[in-house]
Amino acid sequence: MDGTGGDGALEILDLVHDSIIIRALDGTILQWNAAAEAQYGWSRAEALTRRLDELLPCRSPEHLEQIKAELFSHGVWAGELVRRDRHGRDRRIEVRWSIERGEDGTPRRIIETGRDVTEQHANEEAVRLSEYRFRNLFEAMAVSFWEIDFNAVGAMFLPLRDQGVADLRSYLATRPAFVREMMEATRVLDVNAKTLEMFGAAAKDEIVGHGTARYWPEENYPVFVDSLVATLEKQPSFVRETALIDHHGNRLDVMFTVAWSPDTRKRGVVTLGVLDITDRLNAERRLQQIQADYIHAARVATLGELTASIAHEVNQPLAAIATNGEASLRWLSRAEPNVGEARELASRMVADARRAADVIRHIRSMATRQSAGRERLAVGDVIAETLDFLRRDLHAHDVRVTFDAAPRIPLIDGNRTELQQVLINLAVNAQQAMGQHGVQDRRLTIRATAPAGGGVAVEIEDSGPGIPPDLADRLFDSFVTTKPNGLGIGLSICRTIIEAHGGHIAADNGRTGARFTFTLPAAEPPFLP
Ligand code: ADP
Repeated sequence: MDGTGGDGALEILDLVHDSIIIRALDGTILQWNAAAEAQYGWSRAEALTRRLDELLPCRSPEHLEQIKAELFSHGVWAGELVRRDRHGRDRRIEVRWSIERGEDGTPRRIIETGRDVTEQHANEEAVRLSEYRFRNLFEAMAVSFWEIDFNAVGAMFLPLRDQGVADLRSYLATRPAFVREMMEATRVLDVNAKTLEMFGAAAKDEIVGHGTARYWPEENYPVFVDSLVATLEKQPSFVRETALIDHHGNRLDVMFTVAWSPDTRKRGVVTLGVLDITDRLNAERRLQQIQADYIHAARVATLGELTASIAHEVNQPLAAIATNGEASLRWLSRAEPNVGEARELASRMVADARRAADVIRHIRSMATRQSAGRERLAVGDVIAETLDFLRRDLHAHDVRVTFDAAPRIPLIDGNRTELQQVLINLAVNAQQAMGQHGVQDRRLTIRATAPAGGGVAVEIEDSGPGIPPDLADRLFDSFVTTKPNGLGIGLSICRTIIEAHGGHIAADNGRTGARFTFTLPAAEPPFLP
């Protein structure tokens, strides 16, 4: 093969997959095969007679001198170069240079073969980077990570399938010992540093290589089973709040997640993420306690305002009992005692005493701290009872009440006392707003309806000044009040109660004054058979 190459030689060079470039010692290109054309974008005609370094600038030309020195001393050089192609793109080329010598041994030409490894390199880099990121996350995150080998568990399923077990969940629900065996059959392949800290292990080998049964309290076996079923059903991931046990036997409240990719699933490996939510749950419990205390305090506060009317309420039957008692004594102490009259009066006394006892029981049930027990209720009954309770107080403040219930309102599941509390708060607020503003025609209109969307809606509208516009969007926040001695928690309690019932409360100004509307979901079934 000479400098320009015969046609036969060219054809052969063009069959080669690698680029082949032959250049003179000064860099002038003498040969340029088809693969070089494809690799760099320059045609043979364009490349021939150009200087290689100029045609394909190198990313670090300063190294070229060193490389050439090595080439001339060893006769060959192999390595990677980054060269710019015709389109300005950097290509990473694995090249091999060798010197062709003349018969007298003097160097004549440099023969280069090159392979474009840009894509391959990018792929390797991407894999390396993703592996690096994964490792980084795996180690550095504040989440406990576990790599678990499930192959042995998979094998345990096969006989079940052959036995025709269709519903794994219910099959396993009655076989805790078998579930435990499956947990033991899982193998921990790796865990991160956070796992050691969270589970109180001194070194990785206390966890890695072992099964996972020790971490599961028996009551949470169903969570393990659900995560298995989710894996089998090829759901993309699984998340559940649960509790696990650490190496010292302490309970950990955790968010338990299982994730797998098609690739890891094929290998029977899953990644578990375990997030410690003990602090969050403690905070939530504290908050619930504070709310319960709050509701209790507010209920007692509301009671304070109503004490006068309660006293009146109880006094009235007591006075009637005393009067009837005296009268019956008179009937009995006659020369001819009138037993019939005395019996009639005695039965009235019993009825009055019952009424007084009812009033007192009612007050007691409001004042004592009751659990948020639910019962099936007709909202109309709850409203009617509350109005019985408030009637005297509202009457004393010249408030006329109308209550209107649409037909066929669904039943609800609710706490009677709490719902009464909401109604009392709303009615007392209305009465105070109308009183404060010296409204002449004081009306409180209560409507219960069954809205098209389902459930129950209760509307309470007064004929007062309406909601002050500047309060509108924070009316239900705590400590928002316009009253000199107001606490500003009545409405926030109403919202807490209604939302705890799965409902919603809102305020606006209706036709006559402020209008509060709350909704409650219907019980299931919504009507008694
Ligand atoms: P408080 O009664 O202690 O002020 P609430 O949370 O029950 O606390 O009420 C907050 C505020 O909402 C009241 O101070 C009042 O300004 C306004 N408000 C409540 N109900 C009505 C109403 N029916 N009409 C006008 N304003 C009302």
